[in-house]
Amino acid sequence: MTERFSPKIIPIIDRRNAAAPTAPSRIFPEGLLLDTRNRALRDLRISVTDRCNFRCSYCMPKEVFDNHYSYLPHTDLLTFEEITRIARQFVAHGVQKIRLTGGEPLLRKNIERLVEQLAGLRTVEGKPLDLTLTTNGSLLARKASALKAAGLQRVTVSLDAMNDAVFRAMNDVDFPVSEVLAGIEAAHAAGLGPIKVNMVVKRSVNEHEILPMVRHFKGSGIVLRLIEYMDVGASNGWRMADVLPSAEVIARIQTEHPLVALAAASPGETAQRWGFADASGVHDAQAGEIGVISSVTQAFCGDCNRARLSTEGQLYLCLFANFGHDLRSLVRGPASDADLASAIGHIWHGRTDRYSELRASQKADSGNHNNHKRRVEMSYIGG
Ligand code: SAM
Ligand code: SF4
Ligand code: SF4
Repeated sequence: MTERFSPKIIPIIDRRNAAAPTAPSRIFPEGLLLDTRNRALRDLRISVTDRCNFRCSYCMPKEVFDNHYSYLPHTDLLTFEEITRIARQFVAHGVQKIRLTGGEPLLRKNIERLVEQLAGLRTVEGKPLDLTLTTNGSLLARKASALKAAGLQRVTVSLDAMNDAVFRAMNDVDFPVSEVLAGIEAAHAAGLGPIKVNMVVKRSVNEHEILPMVRHFKGSGIVLRLIEYMDVGASNGWRMADVLPSAEVIARIQTEHPLVALAAASPGETAQRWGFADASGVHDAQAGEIGVISSVTQAFCGDCNRARLSTEGQLYLCLFANFGHDLRSLVRGPASDADLASAIGHIWHGRTDRYSELRASQKADSGNHNNHKRRVEMSYIGG
């Protein structure tokens, strides 16, 4: 097995840290799974590529992800059939939502074929999955109809500013806002909704873009979600000083658009929902809502129901985990589907992860979290 090291900083994965799944013992039959903190497994995020055509400084900074960076060779990537086989076992264990991510998922060749295979899966209750995809939007105008035809239900598009110069600087490949907006428009026309837009807020970089983004999407039927800049990975040079807490984001929006808190739409939802209020302080459904994702300032590990499958088939139980469980060795070995289901059950059953909660309880150290342990990159594990 080869180790791939970036000449600059990080290996994509260090298999010395990879836990080989223990021999599947079939003690966990298919059915609803709970981890050690009684959290059900409901949501599977699948990274389909570690490559991206953007170089967002908070995710794949150019200095690290340069021409010398070693991406995964194609043979290391799970095939669509392998992904679907693994996903089927997750669905049998209670997963109801699958999100394709990356890297940039629309860069994976024939991604609509994978969508088609996953769209054929049914939940334990016999219902179609909530099948979605997170994209930077650059290829969406071209692919939206094919994705819809393949069975994708909706998309989340990332966009960090309305101002073209600010956005071009943040994606660091000079990509214009207008093309992302054209992608969103195409997704809307194809019926890939409800559409969400993710904006990562970085203090002093795009905080002045919060209100223009809110103004643009208010009343459009599209839900803007403002995300705290996270200390994920080891290459973005994260500092607490660059985080604009969601509470401050909400306070700023309230100066122009009164908001009312809304109840969570589903258990384990990452975003706190806020509705635009009318003159009498009641939620105006026409104006819509926004969400804030406070991963840094308000831990939501208590009901975290998400598992992440990396591009090469490592199962991660937390965005901040520093090791994965090697499911690819099972799907490429003699393991039966029952063995695979049993291994997944075993791994989830032993899950203890609650990184954000622990970070919150260690405030003294909160400026320095990127230093104490090596973690996987967001582009490898997906958001
Ligand atoms: N390339 C796609 C995109 O940008 O939508 C999908 C993958 S990207 C890793 C998934 C999400 O993670 C995006 O919305 C992105 O903005 C977010 N993200 C990446 N790095 C982040 C960070 N350090 N803090 C908060 N969100 C981050
Ligand atoms: Fe690429 Fe998405 Fe990361 Fe930006 S956030 S570099 S678009 S993977
Ligand atoms: Fe889930 Fe880990 Fe995030 Fe907590 S820190 S909410 S366990 S992904």
